[in-house]
Amino acid sequence: MRPIKHIHGDKAPHWVGDGFFVRTLINYAEDNPTFNYSHTDPFLLFDYGEPTIFAPNADYQSQPHGIGKHPHKGFETVTIAYSGEISHADSTGGRDDILEGDVQWMTAGRGISHEEFHSEAFGQRGGVFSMVQMWVNLPSAHKLTEPKYQSIKRAKIPVVELRDNHATDKAIGKAAIIAGDWQGIIGAASTFTPINVWDIELHTAGSTTLHAPNTHNTLLLVQEGELLVNGTPAIAGNLIQFEAPSQSRADTQNPLVSDASVSVTDTIELHYPASTDDEPLAPVKILLFSGEPIGEPVAGHGPFVMNTQDELRQTFRDYQTGLFGE
Ligand code: MN
Repeated sequence: MRPIKHIHGDKAPHWVGDGFFVRTLINYAEDNPTFNYSHTDPFLLFDYGEPTIFAPNADYQSQPHGIGKHPHKGFETVTIAYSGEISHADSTGGRDDILEGDVQWMTAGRGISHEEFHSEAFGQRGGVFSMVQMWVNLPSAHKLTEPKYQSIKRAKIPVVELRDNHATDKAIGKAAIIAGDWQGIIGAASTFTPINVWDIELHTAGSTTLHAPNTHNTLLLVQEGELLVNGTPAIAGNLIQFEAPSQSRADTQNPLVSDASVSVTDTIELHYPASTDDEPLAPVKILLFSGEPIGEPVAGHGPFVMNTQDELRQTFRDYQTGLFGE
């Protein structure tokens, strides 16, 4: 079992624009004794947007809720809509509505400008809005890649059943494989480095086991509900960071390392307790994300993440001279 290192979650929420009410659960730029970016690499930042109720916006046409045009460079933003809808438009011509269960995987690469608003349909009807956004770093070899946009519809994401450990004919939940590899099932998104993003829902009491590569930094968000993770209670808004990988990718390819070809995954045990009274169980939604550490220096500020301070200064000059497109 992969031991738990730390549970992030005690962050005050803040507004991003006037549309996204989020807790930044990890941030590579944070100066905090409980946080070390090398243990979340390649995940730079994670914003958890807990369920928030919005009234219908009668002024949608002139004042949609969200955040207007702004740039990014050197990494990818991955946005999952859990409830409510997001309208995205960017300088590559990428444009779409992210509906419930859909995923936006935007590669800023050498520079992009985009806007993120509530969709018109959601803005006008209002309701519960809930989303997450993570920033995934790009290795130096791909930092200046052509910007691109993957609009990933829920129906295109492979779904696997989660079986109960003690009654293997019983499915207690399901996992949508947004990215990565689930025992040979390949995720919908293309990625630049090995990354898993699995959107998991447990609907029936029981226990099930996930398998995450032991070369990956591994994190798990409880998006809704509560459960036990490796025997430890976790509730909505908790971001569980597991201990550092027990092997590096180099180890697995080095014949001189004695246990090189041994175990390639660690297990994570999920236990969804039975209801103690006649109330129906609250749904449990969790997001597992893991990735092979890139292991390069990071120099970032605001919406830009480069490898060196020189590159960062040049990026600000480029932005000020209008090189990021419209
Ligand atoms: Mn953005």
